[in-house]
Amino acid sequence: MSTTVSAYVAESATAPLFKSTIERRDVGPHDVAFDIKFSGICHSDLHTVKAEWGEPNYPVVPGHEIAGVVTEVGSEVTKYKVGDHVGVGCFIDSCRECDNCQAGLQQYCTGEYGMHGTYNSTERDGSPTYGGYSTAIVVDENYVLRIPDSIPLDKAAPLLCAGITLYSPLRHWNAGPGKKVAIVGLGGLGHMGVKLAHAMGAQVTVLSQSLKKMEDGLRLGADEYYATGDPDTFTKLAGKFDLILNTVSANINMADYLNLLAVDGTLVELGIPEHPMPVPVFPLAGGRRSLSGSMIGGIPETQEMLDFCAEHGVTPEIEVIEASYVNEAYERMLSSDVRYRFVIDIATL
Ligand code: NAP
Ligand code: ZN
Ligand code: ZN
Repeated sequence: MSTTVSAYVAESATAPLFKSTIERRDVGPHDVAFDIKFSGICHSDLHTVKAEWGEPNYPVVPGHEIAGVVTEVGSEVTKYKVGDHVGVGCFIDSCRECDNCQAGLQQYCTGEYGMHGTYNSTERDGSPTYGGYSTAIVVDENYVLRIPDSIPLDKAAPLLCAGITLYSPLRHWNAGPGKKVAIVGLGGLGHMGVKLAHAMGAQVTVLSQSLKKMEDGLRLGADEYYATGDPDTFTKLAGKFDLILNTVSANINMADYLNLLAVDGTLVELGIPEHPMPVPVFPLAGGRRSLSGSMIGGIPETQEMLDFCAEHGVTPEIEVIEASYVNEAYERMLSSDVRYRFVIDIATL
């Protein structure tokens, strides 16, 4: 037995997404079932659907920024009850036993079972996982997040990926008063980086392709804003930053950005473009600089981030869209025309 629900589906890298149906499993003892109210659109959805990260298992139902209201809980569930506001991010399961899972870093699960994505992956029984562009979902309670009452569900959705993806490295590299942080790319991830770094007390600079979104960037909490299309930017800011978070979905010139780091500064790769990027070693070695990466965040830190956002009034800037607008939203994302996260109103599906 299972439940049939509506969903937006990709069946190939080239065809537009279309409305269809998928099956959701019955609620097991440890499961939480919820009606999805809003689902954010992440650039990773697009990379996956367009096969930029390798051939996915079509049909793909994207969406890993999922917010909704609990409709049913399993007999053993203790954390949630019917009516609770909950969310699901990028994964719905992991091995639960490796050192990383035990430490709450499920995104870095090294167990044999591994981290299982919210879509384009599999459930325990081997059936495919389908994401948030759908009307309901069933997830083990240990992989469900509680959405604080003060955050409306439409604004909560993007926190489940964009929010945690920026929160985690900002915390890990101690963003706070006295730290000079640059955010590269003012899209879905980048604009959350600006808001979160500002709320943590860091000095924030946006590095965007042009000055088109400068007014927004400063309003969101940036102290400074520069265009990377202007070569002067890279001379003016040389050696300035303790931490650079790169959210760009395409390749950048690594040397340019490494040279913006202070001695011992770190460039963290958050964007995951289709093609590898060459790393010139001189700007890395000459400055004892570090190049790193970071992927989303574990369940405990994601909950911490949601509570931080509630406490500090940090929420994304969103454009709520109808489900049928998904393909246009993808086109706009490709042309950097996102202000600053598309969120699907699932009631329109
Ligand atoms: P997005 O909303 O499309 O934002 C990306 C931004 O990058 C754009 O708004 C644009 O900012 C800039 N950009 C785009 N193309 C560019 C180019 N050719 N040259 C220079 N800048 C360019 O995407 P997103 O949802 O924030 O995701 C960004 C990337 O992070 C994607 O690769 C995604 O897969 C990845 N991601 C990683 C994680 C993780 O855990 N590490 C999690 C989620 C997403 P400006 O207009 O300001 O220049
Ligand atoms: Zn994402
Ligand atoms: Zn594990």
